[in-house]
Amino acid sequence: MTPTEFIFEYLKADQDTGAGAYEKMYSIIQSLNWEEVKPTILKLKYFYFLKTSYWQIISQEIKRRSNFHCSCGCRENLQVHHTEEGNNHHGEEHLLIGLVCLCSKCHDSTHDTSVKDAEKRRQRDNRKEQILTQLPFYPKRIAEESISGSSFTLTRKLLEELEHDRKISIDKNVYRGWLIYRQ
Ligand SMILES: [Zn+2]
Ligand SMILES: [Zn+2]
Repeated sequence: MTPTEFIFEYLKADQDTGAGAYEKMYSIIQSLNWEEVKPTILKLKYFYFLKTSYWQIISQEIKRRSNFHCSCGCRENLQVHHTEEGNNHHGEEHLLIGLVCLCSKCHDSTHDTSVKDAEKRRQRDNRKEQILTQLPFYPKRIAEESISGSSFTLTRKLLEELEHDRKISIDKNVYRGWLIYRQ
């Protein structure tokens, strides 16, 4: 099979494929130059990708390998989720990296928490930027509570993260308050 034939056969939506299809598709892929196929996958809209036989075969294989149940034990409404690692391997899903079988309930909550985590991370980054703009470029004793707008413990934590990112220096041996400056 040529890459063009593979694209026609497996990357069109809603093609019907038979049992044992994963092994068959996998062996076809082994004899292909995947670099000629992958860009086509990356160009597909995600909802369209989910309808291709390529994904249908792979997601079925993931479900089969999970004995058709979610880690919560549920056997209904199974879906296959791309973990972060899975997202990094988008376009080579046939390697079965970072794909997990989840029921729709667990799948939804996985997405909710990852969205919430991203939002939290974004807020922390904003907060760090805000703190940074309040710090001088020369060593100065700063009372953390004078850094506006956040709780003492959180500010300390963020300051330590900023130091870890090498954006500021902190001399903690100074009596009463840290000696802080931007790098
Ligand atoms: Zn998902
Ligand atoms: Zn579940």
